[in-house]
Amino acid sequence: ALSFPYKAYMTAIRLEAVSKVFEGEHVAVDELSLEIGDGEFMVLLGPSGCGKTTLLRMIAGLERVTEGEVWFGRTNGTDMAPRDRGVAMVFQTGALYPNRTVQENIMFPLQIAGQGDAEAGTTAAGLAQILSIESVLDRMPRTLSGGQRQRVAIGRALVRRPQVFLLDEPLSNLDATMRTELRQEIGAMTRDLKVTTLYVTHDQVEALTLADRIAVMRDGRIEDVGTPTQVYNDPATAFVAGFLGTPRINLLSATVNVTAHHRVRLEFGGQSIGLDPTDRRSLILRHHHGAPVIVGARSNAFRLIAGEDAPNQLTGTIRAFEFHGQQSIAFVQCGIEVVNPDRIGRPAPAHAIPAEAAGPSLLTRLRARLGLGTPP
Ligand code: ATP
Repeated sequence: ALSFPYKAYMTAIRLEAVSKVFEGEHVAVDELSLEIGDGEFMVLLGPSGCGKTTLLRMIAGLERVTEGEVWFGRTNGTDMAPRDRGVAMVFQTGALYPNRTVQENIMFPLQIAGQGDAEAGTTAAGLAQILSIESVLDRMPRTLSGGQRQRVAIGRALVRRPQVFLLDEPLSNLDATMRTELRQEIGAMTRDLKVTTLYVTHDQVEALTLADRIAVMRDGRIEDVGTPTQVYNDPATAFVAGFLGTPRINLLSATVNVTAHHRVRLEFGGQSIGLDPTDRRSLILRHHHGAPVIVGARSNAFRLIAGEDAPNQLTGTIRAFEFHGQQSIAFVQCGIEVVNPDRIGRPAPAHAIPAEAAGPSLLTRLRARLGLGTPP
């Protein structure tokens, strides 16, 4: 039910072992491969400096690819000029023409493409309606709020019906209320328009709420790709587990203890808990008595009880208690070694780096620790 006559050309993006090396030294993006489906909303999530913006700029053609290939559908776009890529990009602060009205700003890309004023005006008005900025069409950019400016920037980016829509932290300069509102509108609009979208953020809430799939990036590489539920519930690495979810997941060092009755218990120093025998992890770990493991447990897996003796309990002292409105968070010290996910190495793709050069990856190390052998 859109009044904006959008014809989605829907193009998949395929990145093949794309690297970016700055000044011959600094590797910002490292042999990264990723496929974004037709009309898919992919969120690129990762800490500051991991290479998200650089990757986006390479897709847009604003940054040369050092190695690898960028494909749009069946077209190799690696060396294509930016204007030929059918890509539109919105930045943290959408740059608008200060001396043109909102309507003129949105119309401008159509006018330089040779479209007549009447037709361009109609298209701009349709978009303004979708973006809830009809009432400010005659205003100058300096009189707009931050949220309105971003809406205009989005309108101007979409007016030429790009095949690929790239957004680089478009909400980061807005206040919390505006951020939530515009986030929902971006989600609804891109779904309606079915434009292939790559959205960069370091905000996990934006990632979890907007994405069809999330790609978690770290040090120039993709560490995990999947639907929000997949990366949240079944993260590929401890880093991904630690990056998603508030409060942060507990990562604890433990040792596997398989009892005489083939029950798996996890030993934390002097304390232990038993795993449900039908649990997938229990089925794997029952063959690995004595193996050191890292246990990831989100806070909602725990229940605070006082003074009782329950079968699966860890005993500790409450060190802090924070009231967060809807929930309260207790920080409990149990004398258990807590693992810092940032200090756990990243699993390198086995094919990319010779084992002796890179040292064993997390996965290899975990597999070795668990006695599973080296992955093929
Ligand atoms: P942020 O979330 O802070 O924007 P990011 O994940 O988008 O970070 P990039 O901006 O892509 O990260 O930067 C990745 C790395 O490449 C950083 O270490 C950065 O300093 C470096 N870098 C980016 N652009 C250049 C450049 N033009 N010259 C040299 N180094 C650069």
